[in-house]
Amino acid sequence: MSDENDLRQAIVDACNVLNSSGINQGTAGNISLRHGNQMLISPSATPYDQMTAEMIAATDLDSDPTATPIGHWQGPRKPSTEWRFHWQLLQQRPEISAVVHAHPPFCTSLAILRKDIPACHYMVAAFGGNDVKCAGYATFGSQQLADLALTAMAGRHACLLANHGMITVGTSLDQAMWRAVELEALARQYHQALQIGEPVILSTGEIDETLALFAGYGRNDD
Ligand SMILES: [Zn+2]
Repeated sequence: MSDENDLRQAIVDACNVLNSSGINQGTAGNISLRHGNQMLISPSATPYDQMTAEMIAATDLDSDPTATPIGHWQGPRKPSTEWRFHWQLLQQRPEISAVVHAHPPFCTSLAILRKDIPACHYMVAAFGGNDVKCAGYATFGSQQLADLALTAMAGRHACLLANHGMITVGTSLDQAMWRAVELEALARQYHQALQIGEPVILSTGEIDETLALFAGYGRNDD
């Protein structure tokens, strides 16, 4: 799928899946896709069930929209207020084609405690290493939040955002959405394990073996 209208519709459809699957609530989440040298991103403050492909905002990835915020944007609506970390991830990491941001209950609960997710389950390897880090806190939509998120995402396909939510990325929208579901499942498992005892953490060697297997069957390669 590469036609721009198809990509725009894919963002609309995925936003609705975020809410119907319980990953997100209301209009808090947002999704972006790479289309050539452009970023397509869900619009600000638009209920998903009223969102159409024409409402998706667009901007260039090779010219900094911070120079004149909003002025460089195309579309009838303003982009998501969180466009900065979407734009920076797509701009600075060419392997990424899709970015998903949401406020899932268990990811966000751990982020409120400012906990990283350690290697409490082998599926942590789906996010590129032996943990998923929690980025420090900054006001939503701020450049500081984008910088903190980029740091926490280094070498990873996901991060938590302190007192806020989470981000996942992928080489496709399907992969980024799959990671969003898996990250919330992992957060729920870790949260529940913490209720009843001290989680046993897998070793770096054990996670390295999982990373090699994931790369071998292509589920997690990028
Ligand atoms: Zn948010």
